[in-house]
Order: sequence, then C-alpha cells, then structure tokens
Amino acid sequence: MRFTPVFDAVGDGFKKVFTKPMMLDCGEHGKVRAAFVCSHIVATLQDGKARGLNGERQVHNLNASCDECDALIVRNNNNWSEELMKVTGVEMICENCLSRAAKLNGLEAFQ
Ligand SMILES: [Zn+2]
Ligand SMILES: [Zn+2]
Repeated sequence: MRFTPVFDAVGDGFKKVFTKPMMLDCGEHGKVRAAFVCSHIVATLQDGKARGLNGERQVHNLNASCDECDALIVRNNNNWSEELMKVTGVEMICENCLSRAAKLNGLEAFQ
C-alpha cells in the first residue's frame, strides 16, 4: 500500500507530524495502527529474509527501516528527505505486521 506522507518542513529537515494515530485496515489483523517502513521490511515479510530492522517510535506511529536504509538516514543526519523517501520506498504496514518483521529479524518484538 502506498501512502502520501505528511511532512512538517519547518525547522531542521523534514519531520512527520501526525495529529492522531494513522490507522489502516490490515487484511490479516483488522483495523490497527499504521507503521511506516522501507520497502525492504515489506520484502522481509514476503520472503522471510532478515535485512535488519531499526525502529523509531514516534508520538503516534512507528517507523522502521532495514540496515541499509538506516545507514542512508544516518548519513543524512537522521533526517528524512523527499529524496530518501523515494530511495527507501516507504510503505505503510500494520504494527502487528511490523512485529512479525521484527521477529523475522531475530528481535523479540518491535522496540
Ligand atoms: Zn530498506
Ligand atoms: Zn497486519
């Protein structure tokens, strides 16, 4: 599922701002909170291959990226840019699916 991220471009860099939790209807888990992840986390859910999972808890929603994308974000001073959004292919998945991706990466749960 593709989505259009909401950005607050004020201040240093881009920052997602949500005034309330973003929900989605997961075919498997019903209506739950959304998580924003790079396309490789989605790939892990599909093929079960671990690609790393680096999580970030926002006020209302969760973000996660694989090791490679995380390195790109770190190199960009931890800022998401529109360019990075494109490169990492951010998608929206449900938070239960994110927990499953965390387990596939050998993590106990999403941190
Ligand atoms: Zn990635
Ligand atoms: Zn789900």
